[in-house]
Amino acid sequence: MAKGDTLAKLLARGGAPAQARSAISKALAVQMDLRRLQIGTKFTLGFDSDETVTALQVHVPRLKRSGLSRREGAYLDLFALKSEELGGWISLKALRPLSSQLVQSGNFIDYSLYRSASQVKIPPPTLDEFVRVMGFSVDFQRQIRQNDQFELIYEKTVDALTGNELSSGELIYAGIILSGNKIEFFRHVSATGKTSWYDRNGNSAVRTLMRTPVNGARLSSGFGVRRHPVTGFSAMHRGIDFAVPKGTPILAAGSGVIESSGWNGNYGKYIRIRHDSTYKTAYAHMSRIASRAVVGRYVEQGDVIGFVGSTGRSTGPHLHYEIMVNNRQLNPLTVQLPTAEELPDAEREDFLASIALLESQISDTPFRSHSKKAVEQAALDK
Ligand SMILES: [Zn+2]
Repeated sequence: MAKGDTLAKLLARGGAPAQARSAISKALAVQMDLRRLQIGTKFTLGFDSDETVTALQVHVPRLKRSGLSRREGAYLDLFALKSEELGGWISLKALRPLSSQLVQSGNFIDYSLYRSASQVKIPPPTLDEFVRVMGFSVDFQRQIRQNDQFELIYEKTVDALTGNELSSGELIYAGIILSGNKIEFFRHVSATGKTSWYDRNGNSAVRTLMRTPVNGARLSSGFGVRRHPVTGFSAMHRGIDFAVPKGTPILAAGSGVIESSGWNGNYGKYIRIRHDSTYKTAYAHMSRIASRAVVGRYVEQGDVIGFVGSTGRSTGPHLHYEIMVNNRQLNPLTVQLPTAEELPDAEREDFLASIALLESQISDTPFRSHSKKAVEQAALDK
């Protein structure tokens, strides 16, 4: 079920004739409000050998959970069945139990974060989330050094009846040690169901501007490898360069209004966004500017505004990125950036309790004591 779908439309698309559609709807209406079906609900029709519709399974997405600490859950399945004995279509409701596992995993970063993560079999979407959460604090292309370490805790969800994996790894903890300094964030689900990331003190992981406004998955994150700058250019360098493949999407570092968009001399294809009366960001050498990025248009943080290229004064594909504070370019790596939001006071107690619970459930791994030994993947049943 996608936005705009109705049960009748879906049943018709699945090949149920009009009479069956109305009988099924009538039977299901006993169990659920058909006008308030959740997007993502999955419908499976069953046919008998002469292609008559005889069954429908309604697979409602995972029930909303209230927070980190509540790991039990269930899928709700609804069935409509055609029964000769009962004289037509009936409906049934069934809870399908889920089982969850916490997986604690980490590694030393020997050349690239991606290689080190795949060595310990971290699911790629989980790693992408890790990079997204950390991306406001860490420049994965420049700040990674030999012996730096990372640690993730994620949750796997399995259908307890079939054993099918329903979610490969929902990240709940992200930690990294850079040159001996530890940065860590915990997932928090608010009372209203909104997911946010905070450090131990309740400071948000999210900043109003991103330090690395390109998709983290495309960063090589190798250390000791640096692009040679155009001769004489580095002295004038007022931004930071990200060496990423041509065509890598460039993201709006923060929400704001496009102030400049188009060719700009040595900068090549260029965009500047005004975020507020203090902050602006600029992006240069694009191969292409996204169609939404026209002057005067409002963009949200994370919107794709263009694609990496090598236009203007440039020797190879890279993003040149500038953060301007009161119209002066400052170093994007070190400039102080406001945090997007703080943990609401009313939720602080819950948040600290869920950190304590999480830490009681995980083991004290070699990673935690900074040992040189690579961390083994440890799966812990609740
Ligand atoms: Zn540059």
